[in-house]
Amino acid sequence: MARYTGPACRLCRREGTKLFLKGDKCLSDKCALVTRKESAPGQHGAAKKKVGEYGMQLREKQKAKRYYGVAEKQFRMYFEKADKKAGVTGDNLLSLLERRLDNVVYQMGMGSSRKESRQLVRHGHFTLNGKKADIPSIIVKAGDVIAVTDKAKNGTRVKQLIEEMATKTAPKWLEVDAENAVAKVTVLPTREDVTFPFEEHLIVELYSK
Ligand code: SF4
Repeated sequence: MARYTGPACRLCRREGTKLFLKGDKCLSDKCALVTRKESAPGQHGAAKKKVGEYGMQLREKQKAKRYYGVAEKQFRMYFEKADKKAGVTGDNLLSLLERRLDNVVYQMGMGSSRKESRQLVRHGHFTLNGKKADIPSIIVKAGDVIAVTDKAKNGTRVKQLIEEMATKTAPKWLEVDAENAVAKVTVLPTREDVTFPFEEHLIVELYSK
């Protein structure tokens, strides 16, 4: 399936919740969920619809896909990986998504949204354990070190993000050195580290049919 290229706010309105896809705008009163009072997009968006079991499972999966910016095929692959691992599949799935390099870059403070962080990764602005890493879907491991390249530090936007890094709070599984624009994955993120209120059991139910 092709990647969605339409307005990001439409996705939040579809899911009826903030997915934080537009950086600072998401925290302001310009957020489409504030200005349009949470109605779904389209002519009949404001009409209340009954959502069945399948619909709820589907919506939860779409929410997670959109939140992390992952395409359907790749999301399914994460599920299969999560299902094969020991432990609770839903927890494993969220941990894997959280460990994507673009998400780690976002969590270390380099990007106002996951989309921006993904672009920065694609542009080759980071190293992973000292080697260039420009693939957003790389899954990091405990002990991995992610750093902004020296070359990227000269760019205006990257400079600005590095300055802002010190003012942001990183999750406890990441040790951030804002001065040097470096982050270390101290431990793997667990379900408790995912702040978005996903009901991941619905995703597991959907894919287990
Ligand atoms: Fe979603 Fe952000 Fe747009 Fe609000 S501003 S609807 S949270 S993408």
